Amino acid sequence: MYKCSHFKIQELVPPAIFEARGEKAWELLDERLLITLDRLRDRFGPITVNNWHSGKDREWSGLRTKESPYYSATSQHSFGRAADCLFSHTDAESVRQEILAAPDDKTFELIGSVELGTSWLHFDVRNCKRIKTYYP
Ligand SMILES: [Zn+2]
Repeated sequence: MYKCSHFKIQELVPPAIFEARGEKAWELLDERLLITLDRLRDRFGPITVNNWHSGKDREWSGLRTKESPYYSATSQHSFGRAADCLFSHTDAESVRQEILAAPDDKTFELIGSVELGTSWLHFDVRNCKRIKTYYP
């Protein structure tokens, strides 16, 4: 079982899931997502996914359940395979360009898809011909 070195489970699931499951919520997330989050953190510095546990407003940037206003049954977020990342030391577009320029780099090798044109980095580990890109 993989647990992130650089992220608490609260950063990756919404409050109701954390309250119901605690540390068992790690089981709801794809390990390829978790491994890649740690690799991105090692390479690019601090990343915000959710921050509800520190009194801020992001709670749907990792796992998404049907209570989310952004819920979609087919979103990779609904399967624990996606994260929306904000970077403290760089910006999403710079990271996106690095990923697309070197998709087989060790840091990025598990990424299936990235969204284009967003101020955050959405990446996911879907089963697809990589790296798939799309506009949200
Ligand atoms: Zn997303």
